Amino acid sequence: MTHFDYDLFVIGAGSGGVRAARIAAKHGAKVAVAEEFRVGGTCVIRGCVPKKLMVYASKFAEEFEDAVGFGWTTQKVSFDWATLIENKDKEIDRLNRAYIRNLESAGAELIQERATIKDKNTVQLSSGRTITAKYILIATGAAPFVPRHLVGHELAITSNEVFHLERLPRRIVIVGGGYIAVEFAGIFAGLGVETVLVLRGEQILRGFDEDIRSHLAAEIVKKGIEMKTKSDISKIERSGEGVRITLEDESMIGAGQIMFATGRIPNTQGLGLENVGLHGTAHGAVAVNEFSQTAVENIYAVGDVTNRVNLTPVAIREGHAFADNVFGGKSITVNHAMIPTAVFSQPELGVVGLTEEQARAAHPKIDIYKTSFRAMKHTLSGRDERTFMKLIVNAETDVVLGCHICGEGSGEMAQLLGIAITCGATKAQFDATMAVHPTASEEFVTMREKWVG
Ligand code: FAD
Ligand code: NDP
Repeated sequence: MTHFDYDLFVIGAGSGGVRAARIAAKHGAKVAVAEEFRVGGTCVIRGCVPKKLMVYASKFAEEFEDAVGFGWTTQKVSFDWATLIENKDKEIDRLNRAYIRNLESAGAELIQERATIKDKNTVQLSSGRTITAKYILIATGAAPFVPRHLVGHELAITSNEVFHLERLPRRIVIVGGGYIAVEFAGIFAGLGVETVLVLRGEQILRGFDEDIRSHLAAEIVKKGIEMKTKSDISKIERSGEGVRITLEDESMIGAGQIMFATGRIPNTQGLGLENVGLHGTAHGAVAVNEFSQTAVENIYAVGDVTNRVNLTPVAIREGHAFADNVFGGKSITVNHAMIPTAVFSQPELGVVGLTEEQARAAHPKIDIYKTSFRAMKHTLSGRDERTFMKLIVNAETDVVLGCHICGEGSGEMAQLLGIAITCGATKAQFDATMAVHPTASEEFVTMREKWVG
């Protein structure tokens, strides 16, 4: 029988890799994990967690304004970017240590080096050492895509650098209209930075329900974010301490910073896939089957590197299922069809299930329920912000197919509505559920009027 150094070698200690390593070790496997940067991966180190902390930071400005209508006199308030960054870094360091501890206590060995694949059972570390393993798991995540053909692209930052800016710019240009662009536009605008969103399409958040896209776009413009749609950048030049950006219509924008939020590409470059006969997909992702297995029997891949649904809970679920299947004798597949999601824009978005467009394409008859209202808080705050909610129902079976929310607490609502919708709840069951009053989410159990477009 062939002897290997490890049962499992995991490349990448992010959300998917850490979960897979811990579960495999708990099933009794001898596991090693290589990490070239920091344990915790994108989500913990430079993604979800620091981003959400910054979202919290940026919301206080509105809270202070809103408080006035409730009788508060807010004295001169001020914000210190350096304090936020220092406190955020402390929290990220704490989480990083917790991730390392969790790996170690599960019995997995951490190797803080870059690893590449040499052959189907061998990885090579950056120190030159080679290690053999019965199974290899690729969990290397993704990295920001930068349009390198653009003159001056090197002057721009991405989500990798945004968490460590030395100071807040007076004005920022954010390129893109996806999750990261919209979330950081809200963060910067909330912190008082003049924010310009430059997107090549006509609307933000391609792939989301059309109503929710247009509702959020209108709300962020009300907050002072300038949206330049159907705009492409032709060059970026240094100008004083900042940059000058020229758009293809030859107009120019001056800014302290420019940030690309133009998607992410799987981390497969230089990984050695070709050494085992694997070739990335057109997008550079590792192709896998429903068990996250590649075309090489003992090599698996989970998370963003597979470019299925690039969210933390999905990477974790895939990593867990992989370990349970290969080392725990199970046969679990991950359902990528029903994934609740939130965009931490301001106001926030929460989404579960199908968009109206997808529902119309998949079902002969659907009913739509929509409502838009001013949240109770804003009756006294005076803020001109509206909450929007939409339910999409299969008219033949009464099953709720999709739910789209824009307003405070939408992410929290999406998580719970996700349970009902995953269980196949019907509109009648929504209606039979007693309301919690006064809340915004009670609208979901009180909407009775079908939308006639
Ligand atoms: P990662 O977490 O990226 O981990 C991969 C790890 O592999 C990295 O640590 C990397 O350094 C390491 N690595 C790469 N190559 C090698 C190598 N050759 N050798 C050794 N180590 C290697 N998702 C959400 O669900 N909610 C959010 O709110 C959210 N916010 C986000 C905000 C931002 C700004 C970004 C960028 C992403 C956000 N995401 C969010 C997405 C989420 O971060 C990813 O889906 C998730 O981290 C993917 O996990 P993963 O394990 O596939 O990869
Ligand atoms: P997205 O795929 O969400 O959006 C990318 C944006 O960049 C799109 O608007 C796209 O335009 C635009 N774009 C792409 N290429 C170019 C180009 N060459 N020039 C100009 N614009 C371009 O990616 P993000 O980077 O925002 O986020 C990556 C992923 O990370 C998300 O898809 C999501 O899975 C995850 N994420 C999740 C979060 C959450 O759960 N809250 C938060 C942040 C990230 P077009 O639409 O025209 O293609």
